[in-house]
Amino acid sequence: MLRDKVRTERAVSVNEIYETIQGEGLLVGTPSVFIRLQGCNLRCPWCDQPEALEFKENLMSLEDLIRSVKKSPFRHAVITGGEPFTHSGLPLLVESLLEEGFSVQIETNGTLWISGMERLAETIHITCSPKAVAKFFVHPQILKFAKELKFVVDDELNTEVLLRKDFEPFLKKDLVVLQPEGNKERFFRKALDIQRELALKGFSVRVIPQVHKLLGIP
Ligand code: SF4
Repeated sequence: MLRDKVRTERAVSVNEIYETIQGEGLLVGTPSVFIRLQGCNLRCPWCDQPEALEFKENLMSLEDLIRSVKKSPFRHAVITGGEPFTHSGLPLLVESLLEEGFSVQIETNGTLWISGMERLAETIHITCSPKAVAKFFVHPQILKFAKELKFVVDDELNTEVLLRKDFEPFLKKDLVVLQPEGNKERFFRKALDIQRELALKGFSVRVIPQVHKLLGIP
């Protein structure tokens, strides 16, 4: 079958595959298989995945990747990075995971889009985390399809950013998460302050730490 041939020949650059719980955002606690792709278009100063930033040649065929992911009993696949949308093979990876019965989540910085994702985007969970280094730019297609916005609360984030017109639909649907950078106490306090300011304007946002780090798991 042509698709099987494509799966064998198509390859993506994979940093690591591992089981854990989803430790961030609206799906926190979900048992998950993480597929960490290699390579990112941004350089956030506090990035906790520095080893996944460069575009390396550790290619894995999609067929081998799916075989590896299927060894897990968990049926929620999280494609993360690095930045997943730097990979032209992303639509085929998502399609293959869906065909194998996985629910699929993509964690993205929101700056990029790949043609071919439109037909899949409604059926998956896209978590967009806009970044200060990109002036919080989010691609229109990500704004259209994302199911949550997750903001890292650091020195750069403030209430004005969250009240931007392009983020308003997410605020109105309670789909905004504040995640204190590095689970640091001062950023928790700042997150709670922002949460209160937004509540005074009629919006409810969640403050959620990186739960996997609190539990000491990957
Ligand atoms: S977008 Fe994500 S992976 Fe890329 S540098 Fe920023 S935190 Fe790291």
